[in-house]
Amino acid sequence: MANEQIPKTAPAVVFEKINGPIVYKEDHPVTQPQDLKPGEVLVKIECTGVCHTDLHAWKGDWPMPPKQPLVGGHEGAGHIVAIADGTTTTFKVGDAVGIKWLADSCLNCENCRMGAEMTCSLAQCHGYTVDGSFQRYAVSYARHCTPIPDGLPLEVAAPVLCAGVTVWKAIKEANCKPGDWLVVSGAGGGLGHLAVQYATAIGLRVVGIDTGDDKKKLLDQYGADAFIDFKNFRDEGALIKEVKRVCGGEGPHAAVIASAGGAAYNDALEYIRPHGSLVAVGLPPDTDIKANVFWTVFRNVRIIGSYVGNRQDAIEALDFALRGKVKPQIVTEPLKNLEDVYKRMESGGIPGRIVLKC
Ligand code: NAD
Ligand code: ZN
Repeated sequence: MANEQIPKTAPAVVFEKINGPIVYKEDHPVTQPQDLKPGEVLVKIECTGVCHTDLHAWKGDWPMPPKQPLVGGHEGAGHIVAIADGTTTTFKVGDAVGIKWLADSCLNCENCRMGAEMTCSLAQCHGYTVDGSFQRYAVSYARHCTPIPDGLPLEVAAPVLCAGVTVWKAIKEANCKPGDWLVVSGAGGGLGHLAVQYATAIGLRVVGIDTGDDKKKLLDQYGADAFIDFKNFRDEGALIKEVKRVCGGEGPHAAVIASAGGAAYNDALEYIRPHGSLVAVGLPPDTDIKANVFWTVFRNVRIIGSYVGNRQDAIEALDFALRGKVKPQIVTEPLKNLEDVYKRMESGGIPGRIVLKC
């Protein structure tokens, strides 16, 4: 089912091999409506966020390598232009949808039934196990597309589809109540700047940790209680002391670690107050969390891994944006800039999110 002419080729960014050339192509093949399998939809992507996960994928940072060649990207926002014959869905051609990291799951196993679709053994991931949103026409799965509410601009929705969903879920995992202190590490990045906003929206007191004046300036707009520039606290134990001082001496009730480097994890174990939660979100390669058993037990510390969010988390995360409670900081650029965006991301130089126009 399609009601517009679908071109045979369209722009995409592709890499053939991990760490290989990142190639912008004007003439990447487009899956035609008659070639979609039941359950699949063709989405015309208007814009896509660039997540640090996309950079990890290209660098081959993680234990399971991505599919190759790969079209990366998993914060795609656009419109359905075709629905495979034989698909049961309430979506119609023309609907605005988001395609997220979680491209598909079975919806029938214990994980899926519990709303933990991300750990379904049949889960597929956009921009990793299947092609993603760094292209004008992407194949996705009707049952996992996220409806984008009327009135929310697509470029604002895009960063919410991974960064927003992930941190909203992570904050829920932290199990804080209004007035509690939450540290967001990596607070000026794509995930972090949204975490600060979700947290303040639900009445938490927030301390952002990151580096540089641009990121401080950004976070000052969001009502964070404090910004700590980690580069100013290099002496051993200095950052831990400062975090505790800022949070009234006891340390925060929870920390969401959304930085792509490993250092932040072990500091957090020391500055969290007893009964506090460390919510692990950032995915630096080859990194262990070194928790001393005695102190973990004695201080009742909880260490929680938090991996994206489910379909309901996505709808909730977008609703904050629709109501203006969360405003992604975005700069829009053309799709062909992806390689340059990776360079800037690697050096930690992007406050908020870059959104590419497809
Ligand atoms: P980003 O590059 O936009 O932001 C990372 C931020 O961390 C930067 O602002 C950087 O300055 C800051 N930083 C680096 N070292 C730091 C330190 N020691 N202390 C405090 N801040 C530090 O990246 P992003 O897109 O926000 O992604 C962040 C991480 O989260 C990546 O590893 C990504 O793969 C991961 N991620 C995880 C999930 C999940 O489901 N758990 C989902 C999306 C992304
Ligand atoms: Zn992501």
